[in-house]
Amino acid sequence: MSEPGIPLSDLDYGAEEEQAVLEVLRRRWLSTGPEVAAFEAGVAGLLGVRHAVAVANGTAALHLALLALGIGPGDEVIQPAINFVAAANVTRATGATPVLADIVGIEEPVLDPAELERRLTPRTRAVVVMHYGGYATRLEAVAEFCRARGLFLIEDACHAIGGRTRPDGPMSGSLGDIACFSFFSNKNLAIGEGGMVTTDNPELLAAVTKLRSHGMTSLSWERHRGHASGYDVTVHGYNYRMDDVRAALGRAQLAKLLPNNEKRRELTRLYRRLLAEVPGLVLPFREADIAASACHLMPVVAPSAAARDAMAEALKAQGIQSSRHYPAISGFTAFAEAAGNRLPHSIDYAGRTLTLPLFPTMTEAQVRRVAEAVTNAMPAALAA
Ligand SMILES: *Cc1c(COP(=O)(O)O)cnc(C)c1O
Repeated sequence: MSEPGIPLSDLDYGAEEEQAVLEVLRRRWLSTGPEVAAFEAGVAGLLGVRHAVAVANGTAALHLALLALGIGPGDEVIQPAINFVAAANVTRATGATPVLADIVGIEEPVLDPAELERRLTPRTRAVVVMHYGGYATRLEAVAEFCRARGLFLIEDACHAIGGRTRPDGPMSGSLGDIACFSFFSNKNLAIGEGGMVTTDNPELLAAVTKLRSHGMTSLSWERHRGHASGYDVTVHGYNYRMDDVRAALGRAQLAKLLPNNEKRRELTRLYRRLLAEVPGLVLPFREADIAASACHLMPVVAPSAAARDAMAEALKAQGIQSSRHYPAISGFTAFAEAAGNRLPHSIDYAGRTLTLPLFPTMTEAQVRRVAEAVTNAMPAALAA
């Protein structure tokens, strides 16, 4: 009899989430309303920032962040080549140009601060930094560069809610001019589809709030409560709103976030102990302080692309799901203009990385099973 499989990620959902949704259904107000406001206040409180605006998803959050900063045609936005494609896509959607920059190296797949000087042009307006896997190891250096050069800093903090730059450092999402979060099903705080924009800047708050809902000056919830009667449309906006059902799930998940991040850290420490001696295997962020990380992902880097693929196959044969975060953006057809860029570390990393299962309800026994499968796959993988 074979053992049950191990998914890449899994939800920590229970009676709290069911109860939260039931309350919204019984209140009979489904769209943006009191749950959204309470969820926004909860996230702002966690991060220690002044404002949080809930939106439909993390991609919408990034789009609104760029628009609120006035990024558009003719502007360049420096961003890491190893990222989910959302930031690069919405940069294009504003009419601006994403300028892909390299990562520090395969041991630290985050935007290399030394790249910023090399990629800077008179058209550079902003930098997007992404806290890969929950590790914001270079955020403070990137923030310093942006401050010195008068560039806007956007944090793509979709991996990093509840994480910090250092154990006693600022929260991820609190250093940039504006930060973006995703609450997609596989994120540390999961509600299906959802996102958040956070900022200390009241002007950015006003711009994001308005663009979130068609450029209108009031929400239907405000009109419902008699706080507004009509509205004007002052900019060309979108419908990027979050609904109250998802916000209620978000509040239930927010209550579990910090303990669940701690569980992720414990499992990550165990993985690192078990995988430390596997020949040829690189564990990214080995030097980073796990206590600061949101530990969203557990990436490993194989000695070659063939070894990585062989390892993934061996895991799959034992019912263990794995993934790749991420293909280099410069390799995508829609970003072919970036293909000539010098991005050696990003291309090397994308070719050899493999993400192992990690989720807060994962057991130590499951971590041991995955680590054993990786260890056993290595000799054949090396020969591949
Ligand atoms: C998930 C994610 C996004 C996109 O968020 P969605 O909610 O799926 O739109 C963007 N950037 C990163 C780093 C992500 O992990």
